Amino acid sequence: MGSESVRVVVRCRPLNDREKTLSSRMVVSMDLTHCQCFIVRPGAMDEPPKQFTFDGTYYVDHTTEQMYNEIAYPLVEGVTEGYNGTIFAYGQTGSGKSFTMQGVNEPAAQRGVIPRAFEHIFESIQCAENTKFLVRASYLEIYNEDVRDLLGSDTKQRLELKEHPERGVYVRDLSMHTVHSVRECERIIEQGWKNRAVGYTLMNKDSSRSHSIFTIHLEIFSTDANGQDHLRAGKLNLVDLAGSERQSKTGATGERLREATKINLSLSALGNVISALVDGRSRYIPYRDSKLTRLLQDSLGGNTRTLMIACLSPAGDNYEESLSTLRYANRAK
Ligand code: ADP
Repeated sequence: MGSESVRVVVRCRPLNDREKTLSSRMVVSMDLTHCQCFIVRPGAMDEPPKQFTFDGTYYVDHTTEQMYNEIAYPLVEGVTEGYNGTIFAYGQTGSGKSFTMQGVNEPAAQRGVIPRAFEHIFESIQCAENTKFLVRASYLEIYNEDVRDLLGSDTKQRLELKEHPERGVYVRDLSMHTVHSVRECERIIEQGWKNRAVGYTLMNKDSSRSHSIFTIHLEIFSTDANGQDHLRAGKLNLVDLAGSERQSKTGATGERLREATKINLSLSALGNVISALVDGRSRYIPYRDSKLTRLLQDSLGGNTRTLMIACLSPAGDNYEESLSTLRYANRAK
């Protein structure tokens, strides 16, 4: 496992209107040629900035289109050839995770990684010769270490993780939905989003406190020049992580604190798994430490590709959170 299979990029969003009104300082800067990101402590602008190097750096004017073509395209292409791939967006709430993953329709260059991946997969399918594809989708949420099916008949039911000698770790009773087009994928993801939203209102929580995994499962049937049939399977996990903000800052107590502890547990478990994979020397990869990492076990490490997009706010008042995101992403490097 080389570091080639785990790539970490950072994306810094522009100052938002509130930050502009407050005349927030920009504390994040980048050297795009060397993929370096710098952050300087507000109030100590004469101190040398802290410096981090990544596989890619995207600043305030960059588009998702550019990021997709440079860094996500090869990963999704691999999935259409029968490999597993995972794309995460990491960062505090408000740092641009949804902007990057779901994106916006206007301008078109800022359409998200998720719709781009759908289009990419269906285009590859249309272009493939002597090959048939079965495409299925599933969508689950992990909240408080409980797994729920966002597309199931009962979205409140807690599902169990099971281990099978050949299939590996899987979620019992998770529903699978055959999809034939980009539009069908979009419809399914919208339906899951709505189910998430219903759950939030009922449970008095918000989307920034759960992780969700949308998975496209591909089965690829092909016939080679000798008339031999082949079956390959690949899958793409698109992971929307809970906000990484430290909950101590929000003054959480009781149920909220319990929730926060679990969020932190799975994010740190994910960080530990990725850094053990990147390190390459670790024989033990701590997949079992959280539901998130157990579930993604067959898509992290081994013959798979992983992309982490660490999202940052440039504003001085988010300095501590941005620094902690950069440190997290740096460990994953
Ligand atoms: P998160 O999902 O991390 O909570 P969002 O994606 O909702 O954060 O982003 C917060 C706000 O910042 C949104 O209004 C979004 O449109 C805006 N935003 C985020 N990233 C960018 C960007 N790269 N360019 C322009 N606006 C952005």
